[in-house]
Amino acid sequence: MGRIYNFSAGPAVLPEEVLQEAADEMMDYRGCGMSVMEMSHRSKTYDNIIKEAEADLRDLMGIPDNYKVLFLQGGASTQFAMIPMNLMKNKVADYIVTGQWAKKAYQEACIYGKANKIASSEDKVFSYIPDCSDLPISEDADYVYICENNTIYGTKYKTLPNTKGKILVSDVSSCFLSEPVDVTKYGVIYGGVQKNIGPAGVVIVIIREDLITEDVLPGTPTMLKYKIHADNASLYNTPPAYGIYICGKVFKWIKKMGGLSVMKERNEAKAKILYDFLDQSAMFKGNVRKEDRSLMNVTFVTGDADLDAKFIKEAKEAGFDNLKGHRTAGGMRASIYNAMPMEGVTALVDFMKKFEEENK
Ligand SMILES: *Cc1c(COP(=O)(O)O)cnc(C)c1O
Repeated sequence: MGRIYNFSAGPAVLPEEVLQEAADEMMDYRGCGMSVMEMSHRSKTYDNIIKEAEADLRDLMGIPDNYKVLFLQGGASTQFAMIPMNLMKNKVADYIVTGQWAKKAYQEACIYGKANKIASSEDKVFSYIPDCSDLPISEDADYVYICENNTIYGTKYKTLPNTKGKILVSDVSSCFLSEPVDVTKYGVIYGGVQKNIGPAGVVIVIIREDLITEDVLPGTPTMLKYKIHADNASLYNTPPAYGIYICGKVFKWIKKMGGLSVMKERNEAKAKILYDFLDQSAMFKGNVRKEDRSLMNVTFVTGDADLDAKFIKEAKEAGFDNLKGHRTAGGMRASIYNAMPMEGVTALVDFMKKFEEENK
């Protein structure tokens, strides 16, 4: 069997060229006589791999010199604790709750200090992004927290919240490298890479240097201090070495494709095909408010749970896998990350048209 169109939300589709290159280098990485998986993370060869990955990411995102790039473990979920442990100097932070991941981050922060839920879209099953132009930002908030692209529900911030001068912390797990970003608008940008960048096991944290201090909450484990990882260039302990190597290959692939503005154009074009179809379909309907639609995760329903199940089953048989919505959201979700080719989206829409025709 060949490769199919994989619409998984994460771990998710990766560029075929990257997988092929990794396969070619599996047994013998560039004459080393071993795989990157078998290599010391202290070796010169590996040092080049991680340094080049960081340099390429800096180049792609235009990361200024006063920001550190950290390659960590523990998934995005460990950051839910690491952020308050390291940044809650006043023990106060403001959270905007736009989905399950933001909610989990908020709940975790409540363990460490006073986390304020200053806005939420839970009243309408997280189907929109609240107006964040004039929120009741706390006077003494250490930061304002958002989840920028809501993987489960399919919404995305089109403008960043007005934090009234407070530091913005953003979980970009499912929109990482999907479009250009102005890093200077953030204190911390972080994400698990298994959505849009690489294999599960790596989380990338981009953090402004002045936020990396010894002044962390008492009891913070050494491994959860940004400073230890920053001081050791992500090599304090054994990093997720193979995963970082694959991320590095994806950075090079994106650069070769033309960078983040080209990614954005491609992603807009792909999403438009799917959303335009949903907007005219009598059977399928998009779940979220139009102006808040994600380019990465497209959620939709037929309005009939049995028909949804039939669609998911028949789509899988036709070679379109992982279209089932998140277990907490139901319906369908097509995740169309950077590595999903345009043909995958047009083929899916053709299949949806056919399904609609056959099931009138
Ligand atoms: C998947 C996801 C997470 C959780 O990631 P883990 O690496 O499994 O901890 C957090 N935030 C967002 C936006 C996600 O999409």
